[in-house]
Amino acid sequence: MRGDRKEPILYRIHPLWLLTGYISVALAPLALAYAQGIEPRGFRDELSSALAMVAFAMLLMEFVLSGRFRAVSGRVGIDLTMRFHQLIARSLVVFILIHPFLYATPLKHTLPWDPSGQYALGLDAASVATGVVAWILLAILILLAIGRDKLPYRYETWRLSHGLGAAAIAIAGAHHAIEAGRYSGHPTLETFWLVMVAIALLTLLVVYLVTPFRQLRHRYRVVSVEQAALKTWTVVIEPLRGQAIDFQAGQFVWLTLGRQPFAITEHPFSISSCPADRPRLGFTIKEVGDFTDTIGALPLGTSAYVDGPHGNLTLSGRTAAGLILIAGGVGIAPIMSILRQLHAERDPRPMKLVYGNRLAEQILYRAELDDLAKRLRLDVHLVLSEPPNLWDGPRGQLDGPVLAQLLDIENAADWLYVVCGPAAMIDSVEETLEKLGVPMRQIVSEKFSYD
Ligand SMILES: Cc1cc2nc3c(=O)[nH]c(=O)nc-3n(C[C@H](O)[C@H](O)[C@H](O)COP(=O)(O)OP(=O)(O)OC[C@H]3O[C@@H](n4cnc5c(N)ncnc54)[C@H](O)[C@@H]3O)c2cc1C
Repeated sequence: MRGDRKEPILYRIHPLWLLTGYISVALAPLALAYAQGIEPRGFRDELSSALAMVAFAMLLMEFVLSGRFRAVSGRVGIDLTMRFHQLIARSLVVFILIHPFLYATPLKHTLPWDPSGQYALGLDAASVATGVVAWILLAILILLAIGRDKLPYRYETWRLSHGLGAAAIAIAGAHHAIEAGRYSGHPTLETFWLVMVAIALLTLLVVYLVTPFRQLRHRYRVVSVEQAALKTWTVVIEPLRGQAIDFQAGQFVWLTLGRQPFAITEHPFSISSCPADRPRLGFTIKEVGDFTDTIGALPLGTSAYVDGPHGNLTLSGRTAAGLILIAGGVGIAPIMSILRQLHAERDPRPMKLVYGNRLAEQILYRAELDDLAKRLRLDVHLVLSEPPNLWDGPRGQLDGPVLAQLLDIENAADWLYVVCGPAAMIDSVEETLEKLGVPMRQIVSEKFSYD
């Protein structure tokens, strides 16, 4: 899109470079240990140390992965970054949990003919204690993360405990590695661990202090709150001074409403207005829980803070003969931003919007969509899974038969597919598109769930 700003080069690092950097850091402790030239022990002992060192390096990089740094998630998107974070967490926990049980050599130093301790682990009480603490905390942290939705805690409580728990694991783990590790006590590897732990803790400082502090200087206020459909609201904010953040149509921000940015009560919401509407930023918010249920009663003038923009559900840098936009429920929010910007730029390409809801009362911006259909080369298909009797549009979920019928276009592979909505809907739509012969590289999607 022409109205899109150019992202700084740091936010455009190619995913292959990111992956190469990630693998290099994960394997660095092995290289540093090998360089020490110590005579290796038996296979099981060496495997146990190696797995623990690689897993610990991966654990420390988890802080950076989940720290919402645009240098990390700018190109691949928050969705994929968080999926990678979760996948890595599950792998590293296995490495670390089996680590103590792999050792073949005894814990205590019992052999009189082995004064150097070559044939014993020779751990002292403090290093065993920090190892056990890190081991138990890690198991708890992962279990709580996997079962988060079923816990009787607020998301914010879980998030704070997750961050603090991870910090405790990093510190205890580093103590254990340096004091008990055969290789990690060496100055080069010890320095490596200390630098890595410092970076990990620094990311927490950035997320919880530096970023909120920066937001404080750029306060917004709520200028309108209007009901847009059943249980869904359009909230508009504008900055007290100066211009709103620079963003690309389709991106999202972490929004804090009515609280200080340090309160850790921010929630991710797509910007549903378009860059051309700045300095105003509009959001389309559906009531689903303790925070969003209060949106309709938000007083005008309420202070707002914005961390962003984030996400790569944008048309920027992607060429396409035409656009297929597929939204489920409030997933229409970023797609409205894209459509509004396309309209502001008089984009001449053919477009199709397939927009699924359960009920007719849930359809958002219906009049505006009708209007956009007249002004752009846009076909709008509203799909309902529980339609009223007189409904003459398509019925059902956004599944294979419905999409196949609506997306019957020539040269489907040359079009760009932008998909947004709940996680389950995205998975099913992506699978269907693949079956319809759409290459994955032509699909850009964003799930409205962040863990
Ligand atoms: C990238 C992205 C863009 C989104 N855009 C929109 C949008 O435009 N409109 C819209 O209505 N919804 C959007 N959402 C979903 C929205 O963030 C959640 O519905 C909202 O945070 C729920 O908060 P709650 O306290 O009311 O509900 P709760 O009942 O507390 O939470 C419901 C679920 O929402 C998620 N959630 C809750 N709080 C947070 C938080 N602070 N940070 C991250 N996730 C949280 C958790 O998965 C939780 O299980 C988006 C989500 C993501 C990840």
